[in-house]
Order: sequence, then C-alpha cells, then structure tokens
Amino acid sequence: MAAVWRRSSFSVKFAGVLLITGLVISAVPLWLSQNSTNSQSLDRAADKAGVAANLIQQQRASLAGFTTGVARQVAELTPPATYVALEEPLKQDASVNQTGDVVGVILPDGGVVAYGADGLVAQSDPLLLHLTDGVSAGRSMVADDSGQPWLLAYSPVAGSGAVAFTGRQMTTTFITAIDRNIATTADPADLIVVRNGRIAVQTTFVGAAANQGSGVAPSIHQAVSSGAPQLATLNQTSVALAAQPLSDGFSVAVATPVSAVTAAVTPLLVLVALILLAMLIIVAVVQSELQRPLRRLDRAVAALGRSDFDAPLPLGRDDELGRLAETFDAMRTQLRATIRASASRAAVATELSSSQPLETTLSRVVNELRSAVHADSALILVTRSEMSDSFAIVEGVGPVDVDSCLAGDGPLGVGYRQDGGGALLASSTPSSREAQLGMRELCVSPLRIGAHVHGVLAVANHSRAFLPSDVELVGSLAEQVALALERYRFLAMVQRQASTDDLTGLYNHRFLVDYLGQQVALAERLNAPLAVLMLDIDFFKKLNDTHGHQAGDAALAAFAQTLLHSVRTSDLAARYGGEEFAVVMYNTGSSEARLVAEKIRKAVSQTIIELPDHSRLAVTVSIGGAAFPEDTSSARELLALADEALYRAKGGGRDRTCMVSDDNHRGRAA
Ligand code: GH3
Ligand code: MG
Ligand code: MG
Repeated sequence: MAAVWRRSSFSVKFAGVLLITGLVISAVPLWLSQNSTNSQSLDRAADKAGVAANLIQQQRASLAGFTTGVARQVAELTPPATYVALEEPLKQDASVNQTGDVVGVILPDGGVVAYGADGLVAQSDPLLLHLTDGVSAGRSMVADDSGQPWLLAYSPVAGSGAVAFTGRQMTTTFITAIDRNIATTADPADLIVVRNGRIAVQTTFVGAAANQGSGVAPSIHQAVSSGAPQLATLNQTSVALAAQPLSDGFSVAVATPVSAVTAAVTPLLVLVALILLAMLIIVAVVQSELQRPLRRLDRAVAALGRSDFDAPLPLGRDDELGRLAETFDAMRTQLRATIRASASRAAVATELSSSQPLETTLSRVVNELRSAVHADSALILVTRSEMSDSFAIVEGVGPVDVDSCLAGDGPLGVGYRQDGGGALLASSTPSSREAQLGMRELCVSPLRIGAHVHGVLAVANHSRAFLPSDVELVGSLAEQVALALERYRFLAMVQRQASTDDLTGLYNHRFLVDYLGQQVALAERLNAPLAVLMLDIDFFKKLNDTHGHQAGDAALAAFAQTLLHSVRTSDLAARYGGEEFAVVMYNTGSSEARLVAEKIRKAVSQTIIELPDHSRLAVTVSIGGAAFPEDTSSARELLALADEALYRAKGGGRDRTCMVSDDNHRGRAA
C-alpha cells in the first residue's frame, strides 16, 4: 500500500484523497443518522412496552374494583352464603361483566362456586383450579392449561372467611385492543404476550402470525430475559424489541419497525458523479498546473547537474511555482556567471603565467574577457613606464589613444582615476572619445597595484548594459592583469640592473659578453660587418693617486657620458672593467669604426671634468679597434685583436687610435 502510494503520481494521489474525502463526507451523516434512528427506535419500543404493561395493569385494576363489589354483595346475603344462595347473584355478576369472565367465590370450607360465559363452572374444570391456586398464591395473572393468560382479581368477603374472585382471559381481541392503544399508522407497533419462551396469545406480530404455544425468536427471548431493548430482524424487517414483565412468568413484548435511513439514490449518484468530475478536473489541473511545470523544473535541476544551463523553465507564471522557477533561474544565471567567471579567471591565470611576450599574453586576455562577458569590445590600456611606452591591446574597437583616453573625462579616464579597486559601470556621453569609438556602455577597472595604477582593463557594448557578475569578473581579471604587469615591470627592472654598471650606467661586462656573442653569431651567419673598439683611459692610476678615488669615480662617470654621446644609438657602449671600455658596432667596417673611435677620442680630450672638490681636469683615452670580416675571418677573435691594437696605441704614446688594419698596412697612427 505504502509502495503504491509512493509510486503514484501527484494527481492520482490528489484524486484518491478527494475520493476518500467524498465518500466519508457522504457516508458519515448516513451512519450518524442511522445510529440516531436506531436509538430512537429502541427508546420508542421501550416506551411502548411500558405503556402496554400499564394498560394491562389498568385492566386488572378495574377487574379488582369489580371484584370488591362482588365481595360486598356476597357479604350482604342472609343467611350466610351457601352454594345455592351464591349461584344467582354470581350468575348476574358474570352476565353484567365482560363475556368470558369467570366470577366466583371460594368458601371457607374450600368449596368454590363460579360462573362463566357458559354458566356454572364445573367443580372439576381445570381452569377453576388454576384460578383458585392463583388466589391462594396472591397472583395477579395465571396461566390456564393451554398456557393462555388470565388476569386475576380477588377480594375477601367481610365477616365470612370467603374470598370473591374474577378471572378474565387475555384474548387476541384483548391484545389487539392494547395494540391499538400503543400504535398509530405513523408510528406502528406490534405486541405479543410471552411465557416461558412461547407465545401466550394468538396474534399477528411483525407481519406474520404468532401462534399460541409456538416458540419465540431468540432475539425476542433475549429482549424478554435481559429486559434491555434489542435491535433485530424479524421476517426481513428491522425492528426494535422491548419487553416488560407482567406476572406469573408472563411478559409483554413490543416491536417497532426501524426505518432504515436510505439516502435517496439519485442524489447519491449525482454526488458520486460530481466527485468523479471533480477528480477528473483536479487530475487535469494538477497535471497541467503542477506536474508539468514541476517536471520541467526537475529536468532543469537535473540538467544543471550535467552543467547544462539551457533546459527550459516554467517561467512567466505568477504563482508559487513561477516564483520558484524565477528564483531557480536567477540562481542558474548566477551559477553560470560564476562558473564562466572562474573558468575565465583560470584561463587568464594560465595565459598570464605563460612565458609569451607581454603583448601576446595581454591580447589573449582581452580575447578571453570579451567572450566571457559577451562584450562587443574589450581593451587593456597600459600607461608609460620604465619598461615601455603607453600601449593599448584592443579587440572589437578601432585604435585607441591611450594617454588621451586615460586623461579624459569619459568612463575610461574615470575608471583609471578611481580610488578604490574593483570595476565600475559607466555610460559614455555622446561627445566622449569612448562614444566616438562606439563604446556606449562600459565596465572599467583600474590596473592597480597598491598606489600604482598601470592603466585600465575594460569591456564595452554598443547598447547592452553589463551585469553585476560581469563587474565582478572585470574587477578580478584586472587584479590578475595588474599583478602580471607589475611582475613584468619588476623583471625588466631586475634584468636592466643585472646588465648595467652602477657607476657609469653603461652595460656591464657580462652583458657585453652576451651581446657580443649574439652579434658575432649574427655577423658570421649573415656575413655582415661588425667592429669592436677597446678603450683605456690614460694614466688613470695617477689621477686616482693625485685626486683620490672619488675623483676617479667622477672621471669615470663623466667619461661614460662622453662615450655614450659620441656613439650612435645602434652602437653598444659598455664598461669592460676598471677604466677600460668597449664599443660594439654592427654593420660597421674598419674605416667607419676608426671614424667613430676618433670622434670619441676627441670628445674625451675636450671634455672638462668637474671634480667634487670643484677642481677641473681633462683625461685622454687610447683606443684599439678591430673589424670583421676585414681583420679576421673569425668574429670571435675581434675582442682579442682590438685589445692588441689598444696595447699598440698605449705603446705608441697614448691618446690615439690603433686599428688592426693599420698594422696590416704598415702602421698608421692617427
Ligand atoms: P695607462 O696609461 O698605462 O693605462 O696607465 P694607467 O694608470 O691607466 O694604468 P693601470 O691599468 O695600471 O691603472 C688602472 C687604474 O685604474 C688602477 C686602478 O686603481 C684604477 N681603477 C680601476 N677601476 C677603478 C674604479 O672603479 N674607480 C677608480 N677610482 N679607479 C679605478
Ligand atoms: Mg687599464
Ligand atoms: Mg689606463
């Protein structure tokens, strides 16, 4: 049963409950009214049995009055009553009274004189014996030989010791008369007199003949013996039975019909039909209003479990289900946005941690961001820094002028200058740069690391505004990008620090070696010219000794500046170590290298160095130069060759340039 209930659909359950409720509603009043009818019938039967017993009692009382009269009459007889003297008055008494009555006197000697309907009753008549026995036993009723009841009354005859008595048979007529007194057509009742489980008087009881002497139904016997009213079915009729004891074992029993409360069939059928109709309607309504939307909701929930966010929902209803669906839809949208956002964050994090060049990485981030929030365009604007000029990475929009956008009053400028972290939503005014670029609805977040702002990250739409979840995503991606930019900036700084010389700001020895390695490889592969100059300040030890190390340092810094300004931007100047320097010039031949060397040498000799103690001095430099492929077929030898040429310049008197090629053409000092 429980299993069936569990497996039943909602509408079937509903219909079942309705059916049971309907049946209960129609059956309970029926049952209640049947109950009250039953108890009313029992009460009525008991009342009627009481009334019948009273009526019989009254009959006997009137018989007693009559008998007292007979006794008085007998007492007045003179001489004292004898058999013969009694005969005439008794005969008259018997005749004035009801037919069938037996009037008699029991004389002190035990003799009896009695008159009945048929005249003088014979002394041997058994009835006489029953009556006189009844008198001596003090009974108000006696049974005759056939068991029929007689009412018995008696009265002593004053002054004689005789007793007058009257017996009246309870006949069918007698019973019928009493029956008529307790019944009406509207309220019928039947009556029988019972003794020892047998019918005492012939009559009709509950539609059938009740023959004198025949046994009574067990239910009647039960009612008689217990004295409690009973419900019973006699001759296919429902009756209430009640009994009252009389005398000498006689009882009177009354049956009243119990009207079965039969609800009219037609209204009952109409009721059942209505219930069935209501069931059908409920099943249909539940099916369409509850079950189908619930199933949809159920499928959508299940679909969500499979990460399918597009299963249809019963939206657009204004009831509890509609609201449930709306709440679920909001939850689903939120969940989708959250999942999409975390997927985007993960993708962006992967991109940002890759070893791709910064711009490649940022353009992938922009692409991811644009598709994640379904934006028309996405952009990252980065301000100028030590590592690069300002630049923009954009998608879905034309070229953007970073500096003017960030300085402007449009959403990008406002977002760039906003104090807190996180993204803001803004609409551009029609005259703004953003609007001119087709960006009307923007979500902008500064690329902030502490107090420093690297630029902005933004998404823009032509018309559709962004959702709160988009704002959150843009804000968190901006944080990631800002961190990445900071990392790039830091790396660039560290790299630069590692490759430059603190004192002079020129590239250091290590960088020179790396760079030269690259250039040599390139030159050899492309067979392109490459020249190297080695420079050594003259008599530097003496300068140190004379003016101190601090002055030496200042002279080194000043020399480096002169060197830097004397070479082309495409040339690389580096501090080789101590007061020795090197210049690497790609795409440069020996004669060109000499020109550069001379230019440097002259500039150095003309530079007045101002020392910390405000004294001034000037230094000179000796330079050695070598070129590939003119001086050697191995670019790797360039540095050593240039050093040799420098050695020759020192030897030649300092403040001069010596090229390897000079040696090849029998020495030409500049
Ligand atoms: P020459 O004309 O032969 O080159 O003579 P020089 O004195 O320059 O020759 P040398 O190579 O013997 O001396 C180089 C001196 O440069 C030695 C060292 O004290 C000094 N020196 C090297 N590095 C630094 C530096 O960083 N600061 C200062 N103040 N002096 C340095
Ligand atoms: Mg030196
Ligand atoms: Mg020197």
